[in-house]
Amino acid sequence: MENGFDTDIKFVAGVGEARAKLLAQELGIRTAGDLLRHYPFRYIDRTRIYPIAEITDGAGLSYVQFRARVTGFAYAGAGRKRRFTVFVRDASGAAELTWFHSIKWIESRVEQGREYIVFGRPSFYRGELRMAHPELETVEQALSRRAESGLQGIYPSTEKLSNVLGAKGMYRIVCNAWALLAERIADPLPEALRTQYGLVPLREAFYNIHFPQSQEGLRQAQFRLKFDELLGVQLDILSRRTARLAKAGGFLFTKVGPAFRTFYDEKLPFPLTGAQKRVIREIRQDTVTGFQMNRLLQGDVGSGKTLVALLSMLLAVDNGYQACMMAPTEILARQHYATIRRMLDGVGVEVAVLTGASKAAERRAALEGIASGAIDILVGTHALIEEKVRFADLGFVVIDEQHRFGVEQRARLWTKNERPPHILVMTATPIPRTLAMTLYGDLDVSVIDELPPGRRPIRTYHYTDAARLKLFGFMRQEIAKGRQVYVVYPLIKESEAMDYKDLTDGYEAISRDFPLPDYVTAICHGKMKPADKEESMRQFKQGEAQILVATSVIEVGVDVPNATVMVIESAERFGLSQLHQLRGRVGRGGEQSYCILMSGEKLSRESRARLDAMCETNDGFRLAELDLKLRGAGDINGTQQSGMAFDLKIANPTADVQILARAREAAAALLAADPALARPEHRGLAELRRRHSGREELDFSKIS
Ligand code: ADP
Ligand code: MG
Repeated sequence: MENGFDTDIKFVAGVGEARAKLLAQELGIRTAGDLLRHYPFRYIDRTRIYPIAEITDGAGLSYVQFRARVTGFAYAGAGRKRRFTVFVRDASGAAELTWFHSIKWIESRVEQGREYIVFGRPSFYRGELRMAHPELETVEQALSRRAESGLQGIYPSTEKLSNVLGAKGMYRIVCNAWALLAERIADPLPEALRTQYGLVPLREAFYNIHFPQSQEGLRQAQFRLKFDELLGVQLDILSRRTARLAKAGGFLFTKVGPAFRTFYDEKLPFPLTGAQKRVIREIRQDTVTGFQMNRLLQGDVGSGKTLVALLSMLLAVDNGYQACMMAPTEILARQHYATIRRMLDGVGVEVAVLTGASKAAERRAALEGIASGAIDILVGTHALIEEKVRFADLGFVVIDEQHRFGVEQRARLWTKNERPPHILVMTATPIPRTLAMTLYGDLDVSVIDELPPGRRPIRTYHYTDAARLKLFGFMRQEIAKGRQVYVVYPLIKESEAMDYKDLTDGYEAISRDFPLPDYVTAICHGKMKPADKEESMRQFKQGEAQILVATSVIEVGVDVPNATVMVIESAERFGLSQLHQLRGRVGRGGEQSYCILMSGEKLSRESRARLDAMCETNDGFRLAELDLKLRGAGDINGTQQSGMAFDLKIANPTADVQILARAREAAAALLAADPALARPEHRGLAELRRRHSGREELDFSKIS
């Protein structure tokens, strides 16, 4: 933009070199425009003053303001550990304010006996209110300030940054950026469009998002800025879709040949469910159009997605193309390979496997066979997207349990042959269609909404550690019936070392309580050698081990129908969709299965809600909705999670589906009138599309 938005952030008053570096590092803010698009994630009503007694742990207040008189001071520690505490009280109670740095500065400003407005993030010690580094203002100062507006924005920040640039500092530089840019804000949206959708001018939106003059002004600003972001995304997605559909070049799978026929007529282990049949029909329809298919298949855990993938791959093979299937973990890839080989025995289709752990011979065989065309189906992990893998004629790609792929992994998805293969992305995490479009780009969606017949609903219970003896008794009982048990431990990057210790401690305790020769306990986690992992999985699969102690590596896809008990340790540390995935490992045979959630006594409200929901329902769609609700309520900083493909600063496609739908409608109309957005009055829109275009790597239409 030529209007100053690109001005280096260091030139904004109050920033300078050092802070500029930190802003870029911590928040990716590099220009004055970036700063203007750094929106508050919350607003505090500064007209509201709480009595100290009402500021309690249970009140759930993130920032508060109270009015209190200074009753005393204290110093503690020495040198770098020095602390300065100010004691204050109002008519309802007392509080302690503490400073760990800038002590000199605050000392000189606090007067014994004087009244202040204190503003900050509350914390509690033995029920007493504490605040670290609050803002202090004299009552007179506060009164003069409040004349402007009651709402004050709180900006997202990081720990490192907020040490240098506190809430006030951040606010100040935003003011300076506004002063720099305010007169140069051009509106990208044509007037007619603004009128049609009831959108305020961009300049007004920027002003009110940072300095809201009223609740209504704020609401309108949010609506406008969200609309712009989602419009940019939709312009991008729809343009790509048009481009994709304009390139007739999709492989044609016109015939159903011997591979599909033989398998379907002779080898199918059970009749397909109605939903499986419907999805296969949808895929067949996609692959005879001459356009490339991009399809997302949603189906709850255990709904039989693998079989759909297999039948689709056979269609590709029948039409003279190769297919590949990519799984997120080594274990899952190996399992798919074994299952598919077994099912295709005698069908005359060549299957190979390739993973990061493939030995030289296996690797060579796979690479050569795939290059020569001798291999029809290649199953593997992201090793499949390595440079060296060259397909003779790749026509169909299945990506299993898509949510487990990081953006970078999806990123390198083949640039392999000239024409793009059809893509089937499978996931057990259900999401609404419009949301899927925003998260994953230009995809059509199929749903398997029916489980294979004869499944008994899994019973889920929540126990605390006190019930461990009871749990062990129950495990014995099930094992005596010939069943098998999973015991899963969390594994979280930040506390990896401790997690592994918990896991190995747990394994030892179980081995002690379930001694040989009656019980065999296997262990499986990411730090083991691939061969050892494989051996553990083999033991468990073949029923040689009754108990498998593992990290969440087994979360996705593992299929051992004889396992009927899933014990999840420290269940409060897992997310809802992960818990549901783990639970899906049992209940795969005809026997009654159980999921036991173990947790500590003390739980946060959110953890308790998750565990309760698990006990209440087996329905993945309901859990996914609840999950979105629970997470949506959390910190907005969380929106960057889950590999979201588009850079959204304020819109949340989950919470803002209504706006999304309108933005989509607007985008479609704009592109219908001006497909390339080439008209002069659409220059701003073209820029908006560019700014919000999905990252290059996620463009499935470029996959080949
Ligand atoms: P997911 O959708 O979670 O990937 P899977 O494909 O692993 O589920 O299937 C789960 C289990 O259900 C497997 O043991 C599979 O053999 C079985 N299965 C799949 N389709 C059917 C069906 N139509 N009837 C009975 N069992 C089925
Ligand atoms: Mg699966």
